[in-house]
Amino acid sequence: MRNEGLGSWPARRARKTPHRTALLHDDSAVSYAGLHDRSTRLAHALRAHGVRRGDRIGYLGPNHPAFLEALFAAGLLGAVFVPLNTRLAAPEIAYQLTDSGTRVLLHAPSHATLAADACRIAGGDDENGGPGRIAVGGAAYEELLATAAAEPIDEPVAPDDTAIIMYTSGTTGRPKGAMLTHGNLTWNAVNVLIDHDLIAGEIALVSAPLFHIAGLNMLTLPVLLKGGTCLLVGAFDPAGTLDLIERHRVTFMFGVPAMFDRIARHPLWSNADLTSLRILTCGGSPVPTPLIATYQRRGLTFLQGYGMTEAAPGALFLDAEHAVTKAGSAGVPHFFSDVRVVRPDLTPVDVGEPGEVLVRGPHVMPGYWGLPEESAAAFADGWFRTGDAARVDADGYVTIVDRLKDVIISGGENIYPAEVENALLAHPDIVECAVIGVPDDKWGEVGRAVVVLREGAAPDPDGVLASLAGRLAKFKIPKSVVAVAELPRTASGKLLKARVRSQYGAPP
Ligand code: ATP
Ligand code: MG
Repeated sequence: MRNEGLGSWPARRARKTPHRTALLHDDSAVSYAGLHDRSTRLAHALRAHGVRRGDRIGYLGPNHPAFLEALFAAGLLGAVFVPLNTRLAAPEIAYQLTDSGTRVLLHAPSHATLAADACRIAGGDDENGGPGRIAVGGAAYEELLATAAAEPIDEPVAPDDTAIIMYTSGTTGRPKGAMLTHGNLTWNAVNVLIDHDLIAGEIALVSAPLFHIAGLNMLTLPVLLKGGTCLLVGAFDPAGTLDLIERHRVTFMFGVPAMFDRIARHPLWSNADLTSLRILTCGGSPVPTPLIATYQRRGLTFLQGYGMTEAAPGALFLDAEHAVTKAGSAGVPHFFSDVRVVRPDLTPVDVGEPGEVLVRGPHVMPGYWGLPEESAAAFADGWFRTGDAARVDADGYVTIVDRLKDVIISGGENIYPAEVENALLAHPDIVECAVIGVPDDKWGEVGRAVVVLREGAAPDPDGVLASLAGRLAKFKIPKSVVAVAELPRTASGKLLKARVRSQYGAPP
């Protein structure tokens, strides 16, 4: 095959395991031969629509086989796939469509209005060459596939060709389009295969959204590379998850800690049959120790990961063997990844000294789409600068402490807000919190806790601060507490620290 990219995976799989089930969704199944046929037909249909090598194809919709068919179809044509976050508002999607220069937007029937609004704002639909729209996943889509050509497509695609442009979450600023090559995605999938010990008999439950890199490439693509089965779920709910685990004998799941927490709090949890589960991976933020213990009582251990869109995404990984002895750490680098923690002058930190995390490896993006200056600034000596602060222990295990941009400097001491936030969350009345720096004449900056209280709880700033005494060094304890109704978050639930600062960071 001349196609060395993702687009060739269904054909390569169909050659080996045509009858095995690749995708399951609402009790319908797509075999590997079916996935090969359907993505080939979609590629022909897109070509008939004018899509050529290098063109960008957007996708807006929840987890569904059509998402992966479109990804592979784009890969067959050497086109670039642009997954869009369904939780964004129309103007935000329009920005990503315009920025990426998307030619055609594929969307789920459920997202027709959002797609139309976004395309209109992006100046699309007919007139000025903005994106056109095609509904996928419904009856019209089946008709489109049935009438499309089915001859194999073997365009030459190289590992260094861009496979997808995926926008970062926009936690620290405007989302940036990370260009991930076929090679980047493949190397990360290989890292996951190695470090998770994946087998061909894997049944993966995919409720993490495919439009984020973790759902796509910590879970789905590695399983498809190995020939396992992905059970695609459009929307996460704890009861539905427990039911699917039992019915399909699920072996592999990925999620953020909050998702695993909701499952364990559900009334069905105590009687659910979880014996099929082999691999539970948790990423995106540190896993709270009580959550680890809850799952361990059911004989289940979390694998933990740290990564980012730019690294496709895995950088650090904590295996089951070290989940307890190294609790709180994000682990050591994946097999084909290198991680360093450095001082501002790029020299390595000592054990216990915080520094910036740098990542290098064949899974790291070449740069951001259309942002040459930001791309150049994102690398130092070939290492990607993550902007995250971490410490390394004597065994080389890395603990992420916070984002560098959020560090508070008070009287010359660094305060990592995440540490203070974790201590605040132990208070029974606090359900969410953010610690920010506010200007102070004496110390330069001091901490302020912005908290969301449990319903019915009376604000008690002194009580909150007193609860930290003796648990945190005095300089880390915030000087003021502000109770608010809710905290500003991104569409995917990440805390927008910059907005917390601008809303609640005025000097006292
Ligand atoms: P933007 O780059 O647009 O500001 P973002 O960095 O939130 O947004 P993502 O690529 O989705 O976009 O997230 C990667 C970031 O998530 C990491 O840089 C890190 O700050 C955080 N993160 C990921 N995994 C972990 C983890 N295990 N522990 C702590 N933080 C994590
Ligand atoms: Mg980032």
